[in-house]
Amino acid sequence: METTAIELREELFQVQVAMPFPERFTNAYVSRRWADGAVRWQILDPGFYDDQTEATWRAALDELGIGRGQVEAIYVTHFHTDHLAAAGWLQQETGAPVYILDHEVAFAEASVAGQVFGGRGDGLRRRWFEALGVPLDNREAEREVLSFRSYLRYAPVTLTPLAPQSRVPFGDEEAEVLWAPGHTNGQLVLYLPRRRELLAGDHILPKITPNTSRMPYGLLDPLGAYMRHLETLMQLPIARIWPAHGVPLDDGIRRIVEIYDHHVERAEQAWRLTAGDRSVFEVCLDLFAYRHLSKADWRLALGETLAHLEYLVGLGWADRLVDGRRTFPQARLERFLEATDGPAPRITYEPRRR
Ligand SMILES: [Zn+2]
Repeated sequence: METTAIELREELFQVQVAMPFPERFTNAYVSRRWADGAVRWQILDPGFYDDQTEATWRAALDELGIGRGQVEAIYVTHFHTDHLAAAGWLQQETGAPVYILDHEVAFAEASVAGQVFGGRGDGLRRRWFEALGVPLDNREAEREVLSFRSYLRYAPVTLTPLAPQSRVPFGDEEAEVLWAPGHTNGQLVLYLPRRRELLAGDHILPKITPNTSRMPYGLLDPLGAYMRHLETLMQLPIARIWPAHGVPLDDGIRRIVEIYDHHVERAEQAWRLTAGDRSVFEVCLDLFAYRHLSKADWRLALGETLAHLEYLVGLGWADRLVDGRRTFPQARLERFLEATDGPAPRITYEPRRR
């Protein structure tokens, strides 16, 4: 018989939840502890939500013998559909509370309600893309740029916020809840100090670098926040990383350093590519010229390009220009776009000469 719940080590299991994205599966983790002779289960990242997910989880709960009322916590690393979407359904099935970092609650609730950008960016969506030089010159382009994927289906869920640095039950030890910003505003990762393991969500992935995008009303400098957090993680004793996609990483620190170096290299490239009054969209096409961008990919590529450019501004390696005028580094991009009438200003970046 094929098993749905794979035993990874003592008191830790993995359930692979299928999804229609390139990574194909989300790794959900299921852990177990014993308290006063009774068993208590914890689940991390229920995954994408469709009929197949329901069947997968039913099989896994059955195999592990998890009864209603025995799950004490469902943790969700971040609001993206391949992590949070099925949480509400699993909450119904098990009766368990669903925990997410308090920083992530607004984005999570907006997503469940079918809104993008935390429900705040709708008004400036068009001006945002115009300002970055995305061609919106015909109806088709406009539809493609401004529409968002319609298959993002979330089960309704009641969320309980967690504070960073809190300690929560996870298997036979207590996990430390860490705020790991960058990929989203408020992603959480769980650190198991005794085993030196990190349940990393999408913060550290084996094959791809997690997308760190500057999105409307998201983190002002998401790449800066991400890099600073990687610096913190490099100082932690981390042996193994359990990622949300792909295979476990047995040399965790090495992968963290690799991702860090990669972004430094990309920031250097972005710095060179900004020269000559080019739009963010043009810089993006060059920065990602090495690979074919699908329709779903390029918006993330644009957000990531913008994140690199804002990172350079924060470091003092580039200036941000709005209609050709230099702006104060800490000025929020939204400030220049919130006006609803008139054409969007042109936002460009200029490398500082060193
Ligand atoms: Zn993911």
